[in-house]
Amino acid sequence: MGTGTSTGVPTLGCNCAVCTSADPHDRRLRPSVLLRWREPDERERVVVIDTGPDFREQALRNGLTRLDAVFYTHSHADHIMGLDDLRPLSFTVFREGGPIPLYATPQAKAALERVFDYTFSPHATYPNRARVELHELEERTRVHGAEFLRVPVMHGQMKITGYRFGRTAYLTDVSAIPEASFERLMGLDTLIISALRHKPHPTHATLEQAVSWAQRIGARQTWFTHISHDLGHEETNLTLPDGIRMAYDGLSIPVDMGTANQ
Ligand SMILES: [Zn+2]
Ligand SMILES: [Zn+2]
Repeated sequence: MGTGTSTGVPTLGCNCAVCTSADPHDRRLRPSVLLRWREPDERERVVVIDTGPDFREQALRNGLTRLDAVFYTHSHADHIMGLDDLRPLSFTVFREGGPIPLYATPQAKAALERVFDYTFSPHATYPNRARVELHELEERTRVHGAEFLRVPVMHGQMKITGYRFGRTAYLTDVSAIPEASFERLMGLDTLIISALRHKPHPTHATLEQAVSWAQRIGARQTWFTHISHDLGHEETNLTLPDGIRMAYDGLSIPVDMGTANQ
């Protein structure tokens, strides 16, 4: 739903070639993915990873009308600030059977509780607060037949969460991948991984680093996300090896959620 870095692209106040590009692929909202699958009884299930500041617009663009769960990668603003827009969706779910479950590590959970105090505090009295329930993330979390495996990655000094579901993985804001996490990324069909820009950054991988991880992981296809205005869509794609491409807002990829063999 979004493939931009924390500022989004265009970046406010910037007149660079990418920020003023006419190519719609160069307009990037804050990072998020939407997963939809069908249960054996044909019921559609919908999960989102991260609700950044653009969540509302992304939900509208993608026809999101209900939600079964949200997974958080970490608690930086570009990944959480749309949480309040879960309210209208949560009211429906509330009627259908309980609050929307949100999954986060203990650190991210504590940050969400602090930022959205009026939602999560046991003393919260705001009547229209989101009907959501924060759960501590387990190694493996099941949501209606799909399993989400935690894949820890480093974001500077911070250990944050990537996710593997079936033969697909989503890793954003990565600056290093621990060896144990590479093991969780074997046999992937699809890898979605962050690639910020060419110039080194203290908490994000460069494009070159992301390419070398993508080659080591060896997914059938790799898509780059969390992209800054330093990388134009078209000209960067021309430089990438086969099987590795720049993602863009609205890109839809068929993925196997691994629900068939469970
Ligand atoms: Zn980010
Ligand atoms: Zn720019």
